[in-house]
Amino acid sequence: MIASVYQLRGVSYTYEGSDKPALDIGELSIRGGEVTVFTGPNGSGKSTLLSLLALDIAPATGDLLFFGERPISARHRSRIGILDQHPYLFDISVRANVEWGLKARKLMDDMDERVGKALSDLGLSSYSERRARKLSGGEMQRVALARTLVLNPDILLLDEPTAHVDASSRERIERIVKEWVAREGGTAIVTTHDVALAQRLGGSAYRLQEGKVSASGVDNVFMGHFVMGEGGVFDTGHIKINVAGKRQGKAVTLRAEEVILSTHHLESSVRNNLEGTITDVSLGDGGLLLVTVDCGERIVASITTSGWADLGVSVGERVHVSFKASALRVVE
Ligand code: ADP
Ligand code: MG
Repeated sequence: MIASVYQLRGVSYTYEGSDKPALDIGELSIRGGEVTVFTGPNGSGKSTLLSLLALDIAPATGDLLFFGERPISARHRSRIGILDQHPYLFDISVRANVEWGLKARKLMDDMDERVGKALSDLGLSSYSERRARKLSGGEMQRVALARTLVLNPDILLLDEPTAHVDASSRERIERIVKEWVAREGGTAIVTTHDVALAQRLGGSAYRLQEGKVSASGVDNVFMGHFVMGEGGVFDTGHIKINVAGKRQGKAVTLRAEEVILSTHHLESSVRNNLEGTITDVSLGDGGLLLVTVDCGERIVASITTSGWADLGVSVGERVHVSFKASALRVVE
């Protein structure tokens, strides 16, 4: 497997008429054979980044290497499949939409089989003769994904694939992307403003903010639900978390620097006190250590090297984990 599918160094991109770059990336490598997720609010540069990775636009400055190569040719482009944020479907049947790319590329040998498989993978077999434009948003998104996957890309770029779809389409799209990566050894790059999606898809996660990329793997995301009648208790199925403020949502996040580690139970007003086994210690940004503790859920804490030395514990040992109820952010 190729280690890096994309390598970006000093890459920036500025739209005509704008005085500020939409994207400004110091250094970024995207590994092959896994999912990489970019989260970020509207306008943070997600679609611009995907256009660059799709080789649709060229960097204004810096270097973009694709499989270690530059310049980029049509041969490179044919390895990439893209699912736009608002995909365009032709006003013809679902099947004809999915066949279209194969016909355009004269790849008609085993077309029926390939199209049949793509439709069935996306739960669209019984829709194949329906008019694509008459379907719901989620169904149309699945047609667009089938149309992309039927071309057997090595790299799949998905721009907010589940932003405007119903829950069942969202689950199916997420499952298909994960399965595709596992089965084909493909590389999926996904943008989203849903931080919980990054957690569900696994792989590497980055945050985009005003065109700049930073690692966001240090954030803890817990999926679950608020317990009815118990104000502010969020149940992940493995642990219960006290959350201050908003009490509606399917996920809560916790920044690694808000997590306090100690060898004894802290006698304080901190509402969340757990205990667990240290499973991993690694080096994070700015010389901080990232310590993973399995408390029923894995919780990542960031801690200075001197703080770690003071604790005097190591991997495999027990430790107390605390964080404030007000440190949690609720995700809708
Ligand atoms: P996102 O996908 O995260 O919402 P975009 O990549 O679309 O962000 O946009 C990043 C920035 O570039 C925003 O400030 C946006 O206004 C600007 N931008 C995007 N597309 C264009 C365009 N075609 N012309 C000018 N500015 C643009
Ligand atoms: Mg966008």
